[in-house]
Amino acid sequence: MASAHEIASHLGRSRRDFLRSAAGLALGSSLVSGSPFLHGETAALKRKVIVVTFGGGARDQETFAPEGQVNIPHMLNELAPQSSFFTQTMNRGILGHYVATASLATGVYETLNNFSAVPPEHPTVFEYFRKDLHRPSSNAWVVAPSNGFNRIGESDSRGYGPGTGARVILPKHLLTAAANGNNGGYDHLLRDNYETPLYTPQIAGGEVELEQLDRILKLSVADFTAHARTVSSPDELSVYIAKRLMQQESPSLLWITMHDIDVAHSGAYSLYIDAIQRTDRLCAELWKEVQSNPEYAGNTTLFILPDFGRDADEDAGGNGFQHHRTGDAASRTTWMMALGAGVRQGVVYDRPVQSIDLVPTLGAMMGFSPKLSQGKPITELL
Ligand SMILES: [Zn+2]
Repeated sequence: MASAHEIASHLGRSRRDFLRSAAGLALGSSLVSGSPFLHGETAALKRKVIVVTFGGGARDQETFAPEGQVNIPHMLNELAPQSSFFTQTMNRGILGHYVATASLATGVYETLNNFSAVPPEHPTVFEYFRKDLHRPSSNAWVVAPSNGFNRIGESDSRGYGPGTGARVILPKHLLTAAANGNNGGYDHLLRDNYETPLYTPQIAGGEVELEQLDRILKLSVADFTAHARTVSSPDELSVYIAKRLMQQESPSLLWITMHDIDVAHSGAYSLYIDAIQRTDRLCAELWKEVQSNPEYAGNTTLFILPDFGRDADEDAGGNGFQHHRTGDAASRTTWMMALGAGVRQGVVYDRPVQSIDLVPTLGAMMGFSPKLSQGKPITELL
């Protein structure tokens, strides 16, 4: 039987080999060209970063491994060839969606209770970004599913904390507020959590959300609810809101947490695959919005990565794709792509990087110091 290390390195190798041959990507180690990093103060001021978590929980074998590539035509054919691609992105923390996303956002493996609406313990990327670069609250936004994520925008860390982080928008809560108790027809968009259906954290009242809709997104309740009737999943609603935020607020740091894929907990493989295909399409749609929005085109770096994987079919302690309970190699080994401003195109890097390396990398790219992060900047992106 292969060790966890062997399985992880095999996953990385198979993805790399495919990408090299199919998309004509070069191996990072063979590159000699200099960094295309944007220099100068004007470039730094205009620079924007969008992070998309390809969530919640997607395995290699349904994404970038050879047998999964049929599910991700947009990322494979449109985005990967433009990207620096990291084949072994390891998550060594707790494999729950909120706690893992919080870890991605702080650069520390957080240990908070995944099923409670508590803030991350360490400062978030949004707090570092705003404090060091003196940015207003309108410059950092999170679009997230509802289950606990309402606290992800800021920590309660000393010197940072309430009022210093990102504003968080929860499209499902917006829709609940806008529908005003008349949720008929929206049930498929309001489903909040695939693991603990009874968990619904108390968060701010509907007025706050309706105010976001009207003042920030410049959307009437009627237009928003009419649009909601045309979308088929919560992530589609999230991307609609994210695009609206880009058009109205143009945040320089925008974080979008996808979550449709976690429908896998229901045990229906076809729904899991549908969600991966949808997320693939939504990632391409966001990249298209970047290109067509003058505030973003040419100065935006997009990161796409799963929060973590899911259990391997071979692991007797789990039930395959359905959950992420075993902590095996398949559930801890994922990928990450970065594309756009300042990033080398069409390069595959095989060395392992970690989830917690994202924040220090963003800090080095954008010019802020994530002092308490425990990850390391990914030098290949700098
Ligand atoms: Zn899950």
